[in-house]
Amino acid sequence: MFTAEIIAVGSELLTPFRMDTNSLWLTDRLNSVGVEVKLKTIVGDDDARLEETIRDALKRSGVVVLTGGLGPTEDDITRKIAARALGRRLSLDERVLEEIRAKFLRWGRKMPEINARQAMVMEGAEVLPNPNGSAPGMYLEHDSRVVALLPGPPREMKPMFDTHVLPKLASRAGGVRVARRVLRVAGLGESAVDERIAPVYTQYKNPQTTILFTNTDIEIHLTAQGKTEQEAELLLDGLSGQIEERLGDAVFAFRGETMEEVVGLRLAVGGFNLAVAESCTGGLIAHRLTEVPGSSNYFMEGVVTYSNEAKTRLLGVPEEMLERRGAVSAEVAEAMAEGVKRRASTDFGLAVTGVAGPGGGTQEKPVGLVYVSLADDAHTEHRRLMLPGDRHLIRWRASQAALDLLRRRLI
Ligand code: ATP
Ligand code: MG
Repeated sequence: MFTAEIIAVGSELLTPFRMDTNSLWLTDRLNSVGVEVKLKTIVGDDDARLEETIRDALKRSGVVVLTGGLGPTEDDITRKIAARALGRRLSLDERVLEEIRAKFLRWGRKMPEINARQAMVMEGAEVLPNPNGSAPGMYLEHDSRVVALLPGPPREMKPMFDTHVLPKLASRAGGVRVARRVLRVAGLGESAVDERIAPVYTQYKNPQTTILFTNTDIEIHLTAQGKTEQEAELLLDGLSGQIEERLGDAVFAFRGETMEEVVGLRLAVGGFNLAVAESCTGGLIAHRLTEVPGSSNYFMEGVVTYSNEAKTRLLGVPEEMLERRGAVSAEVAEAMAEGVKRRASTDFGLAVTGVAGPGGGTQEKPVGLVYVSLADDAHTEHRRLMLPGDRHLIRWRASQAALDLLRRRLI
C-alpha cells in the first residue's frame, strides 16, 4: 500500500472565495484503489514555494498529484516549476501543439499564440489528453514515484484522472480494493452511540471506523480493504451487522441514505400516504420529503400553520385548547396531526410545534422545546423534545425527529 499527497495550485484557492474541492474528490478516488492520502497542500502561484513543495513531496510520498496552474497565462506555473523540481527538461511537443491548434479550430477559433505553452512537455512524461479543455495533463514515473499534473477545472481534471491515472495506480497498488459504507443513526446521543459500539469496532483495524457528528444525526463511516471488492464488502457486512445488533432501530440507513429517503421508501413500499402540518419548521419537513424523486406517490400535502388562527382555521385545532395549553403543547401537536390527516384523508398525519428561538422562550416553555406528533387511523402519539442548538439547528433537528417518529411507526 503506498501513500499519496495532493498539491492544489492556484492563488485563487487561498482567497476566501474559492475552495479546493478537487482534493476531496481525488482523495475518494485514491482511497478506492487502496492509496492513502497523507497530506494536502494548497500553494499560490509562487515559483519558489511551489518548487519547495514539490521537492518535499517527492521525498515523502509515493504518489504526488498536482492540480491547477496548467493554463496558458504567465501565472500558470505548474509545468515549469514541476520540471525544475524534478530536474527534467521541458520542450515543445509538436504533436501536442498541433492537437491544441486543431482543438481551437474545432471550437471555431484561432489558437492564441500564448496557448503554445500548453504544448511544453517534460522529458519522459506521458501526455494526458484533455477532451474538455485545452491544457493536456502529464503523468510520469520518477525514482519509483508517480507524479501526475492535472488541470484545475474539475470538469477537465476528473475525467482525465479516471481515464489515465487511476487505472495505473490501481495496478501498482497491487489490486487492493477499498469499500465504504455510511451508517446513520437517529434518536441517540453521541456518547450513547460510542458507548454501545466502541467495544465492537475497536477490535478491528480493517474495517476502519470513523464516527462523525453532523447537525442532525450521527454517521458511522466504515472503510474496508480486501483483495477483491467482494472481500471488502464482506468485511463491511460483518462489522455493520454487529453495530446494528448494538444500536437496533436507531440505525436508519446503511448506505448513507437520508432520513427523507428512508421514510419515503417505507411509505412507498407500504402503499401509504402522508400529510404534514408544520409550525416551527415552517415547511422544512415538506421540503425535505419532496426533495426525493417520486415523493408525489406518497406525499399529499403540507400546511404551514404558523399562527394560532391558522391552526384553528386550517386544522380545526380548538381555540380553547390553544388558549389553555398554548400552541407549543402535546395536545396541540396531536390536534394538528389529526387535523391535517382528516383534512387530507391520508393514512398518516405528521405535525410539529415548538419554540425555535432565539426569542419567545419562557421558563415553562424554553427555546428548544418541540412536540412532534403522528396520527394514523388507530391512534395518535407524540414526543416531547428538548433540542439544543440555535434556531437553524432546532428547526433541522425538529424536522428530523418528526420524520424519525414516522420511520419507527413504519418498521
Ligand atoms: P485553465 O486552463 O482554466 O487556466 P488551469 O489548469 O490553469 O486551467 P487553474 O487556472 O488553476 O487551472 O484553475 C481554473 C479554475 O478551476 C479555477 O478558477 C477554479 O474555479 C477551478 N479550480 C482550480 N483548482 C481547483 C481545485 N483545487 N478545486 C476546485 N476547483 C479548482
Ligand atoms: Mg489557470
